[in-house]
Amino acid sequence: MLVDSHCHLDFPDFAEDLDGIVSRARAAGIGRMVTISTRVRKLTQLLAIAERFDDVYCSVGTHPHNADEEDGIAPDELIALTQHPKVVALGEAGLDYFYDNGSPEAQARGFRAHIAAARATGLPLVIHTREADEDCGRILEEEAARGSFRAVLHCYTGGRELALKAVSLGLYIGFTGILTFKKSEALRALAAELPPDRILVETDSPYLAPGKFRGKRNEPAYVVEVAKVLAEARGVSLEEISRQTTENFFRLFSKVPA
Ligand SMILES: [Zn+2]
Ligand SMILES: [Zn+2]
Repeated sequence: MLVDSHCHLDFPDFAEDLDGIVSRARAAGIGRMVTISTRVRKLTQLLAIAERFDDVYCSVGTHPHNADEEDGIAPDELIALTQHPKVVALGEAGLDYFYDNGSPEAQARGFRAHIAAARATGLPLVIHTREADEDCGRILEEEAARGSFRAVLHCYTGGRELALKAVSLGLYIGFTGILTFKKSEALRALAAELPPDRILVETDSPYLAPGKFRGKRNEPAYVVEVAKVLAEARGVSLEEISRQTTENFFRLFSKVPA
């Protein structure tokens, strides 16, 4: 069994074909999917999808791109929304300095509010970080000093230093189809180096179709391609990577029934 720990089933790209997407994922051996929230204010729509499929769960959070729009959402509100049985994580929240969406200040405020909610609930936080290694590392260290929390740096594309810092703070690292791209040698080297109990696979679909599907719409079934490349990079079998990443998923996303 494999798990897609990060997809976006509520995006318009999937609207026409959601039953097909989920049944293809099941046929490919994907046992669970977590559809990740990008706007707290759209949780109702996301929950409708999670409630429709037994093996689909969701998170609640504000993507850094939407940080200005949802500035000021307090940890208490996030905590209340996690009471729903299908909400199994916070996020995605964090810092994205690659795109000019969301002021850095609002992104940081949102990031810290989501960390507070993760700490209070014990649920994992899905962290989005892009071109923001230094500030992300600093916030993680400051917040970890206030009290531990659980999290994954999803769709990891940052440097080695931030990844190792995150691992030392007890966090996980998630890999997408970017791992399969030819130019991603440094990322594969990092993926090979991380402890086996801290790695996850995900698609971030509909974006980032891996390997042979590059340029097409991505979907949860293709997480197999990410797992294959991760296995190759680490010099283990696909079966071993499937077993390990699935075990890691259930340890981190502990609200999802095994
Ligand atoms: Zn993201
Ligand atoms: Zn995402």
